[in-house]
Amino acid sequence: MALDRKPAPNDLNAFWMPFTANRQFKKNPRMFVGAKDMHYTTSDGRQVLDGTAGLWCCNAGHGQPKITEAIARQAGELDYAPAFQMGHPAAFELANRIIEIAPKGMEHVFYTNSGSESVETALKLAIAYHRARGEGARTRLIGRERGYHGVNFGGISVGGIVNNRKMFGTLLGGVDHMPHTHLPALNAFSKGQPEHGANLADDLERIVALHGAETIAAVIVEPVAGSTGVLIPPKGYLEKLRAITAKHGILLIFDEVITGFGRLGSAFASQHYGVLPDMMTTAKGLTNGVIPMGAVITTGAVHDAFMGGPEHMIELFHGYTYSGNPVASAAGIATLEVYKEQGLFERAAELAPYWADAVHSLKGARHVIDVRNEGLIGAVELEGIPGEPTKRAFSAFLAAYEKGILIRTTGDIIAMSPPLIISKGQIDQLIGTLGEVLKGLE
Ligand code: PMP
Repeated sequence: MALDRKPAPNDLNAFWMPFTANRQFKKNPRMFVGAKDMHYTTSDGRQVLDGTAGLWCCNAGHGQPKITEAIARQAGELDYAPAFQMGHPAAFELANRIIEIAPKGMEHVFYTNSGSESVETALKLAIAYHRARGEGARTRLIGRERGYHGVNFGGISVGGIVNNRKMFGTLLGGVDHMPHTHLPALNAFSKGQPEHGANLADDLERIVALHGAETIAAVIVEPVAGSTGVLIPPKGYLEKLRAITAKHGILLIFDEVITGFGRLGSAFASQHYGVLPDMMTTAKGLTNGVIPMGAVITTGAVHDAFMGGPEHMIELFHGYTYSGNPVASAAGIATLEVYKEQGLFERAAELAPYWADAVHSLKGARHVIDVRNEGLIGAVELEGIPGEPTKRAFSAFLAAYEKGILIRTTGDIIAMSPPLIISKGQIDQLIGTLGEVLKGLE
């Protein structure tokens, strides 16, 4: 059903929109009414080039017939089945297919409905894992400043975004934060992984010395932090984190909600960087964003600790009504097939150098103080207006939308993560249009 360009404001009241300044938006709403391949159609009939794959999730672009057909077929055959004490084939098949493309050593899949739920699940699994092995004192969780791990209580506790934390009172206890890895003075305008900052992983040793390794359950990091402005791990940093966590028996969780399913040119960042965590949290690209679904992927060792642990822990007292939902599972299977048949992970790897050059062509553009890239992710950081930290980038977002490109902003940083089907011509259009937008900014 097409919406008029500007529906009457009272039509928009009931929906309390997430992460949106509701009053401002509802005065001048931006509405999408359709999507195909690389473009959204707006309610006033314009085409907008999707520079962000929705919210980092539509990795195969929009309207992939194989995915929409699989959803319709599954909904007609078996629309819903409980996942508690019951099974259905699609959930098992999808788990096997995820494991096929996951790094060697990853052997099990636990389904959720979102990235936030994947994070909560992984944090709980980490604590229970140690308990199953007789180390029940290991409950402490470690995240990072500027980490984003979704919006549930565990996720905002280990996360490091002040705005997401400060409204919500008492968070989880027993949480520490390592520093983020953003070092503009040393690494500005790095192409790919920055040279400086691997030593920031050593901060984990400080936390271990402070609390004792025997109290620490897990460290959670995004291999590439996306939502806080695209922070690429310095060379050697993730390797160091892996070595320190392994030395102290601490589980390492990679939050691959953004980096999973091809964004960096491999199925997972873990393969791209050659570092194997104990668990990976995923969502988004698992179903191409079409149906909500997430998954925690674990090594055999994590799973086997439960299965070989005390009798009362063989059943995991955790799960969701929609864990492994049949329609979501069918969407996931079809999505993984599309990625494979269209060679989209390889395509992302091939396009990455072209993308890097395009994004870095904005070095020297008005207000630009840093440009960062990895895989098919790019960020352009603008000099903020004193006292108005998000204003300039948000103005860029609005101007970009009017000129027909969708970008995303966080603080004064513009982030881009197009569908992996993007062409070189469309990369030129996206970056060229952004360049024009920057010229026009105050
Ligand atoms: N973790 C990371 C790294 C994310 O980027 C996101 C979402 N951008 C989440 C978790 C939360 O996912 P969701 O919005 O599906 O709950």
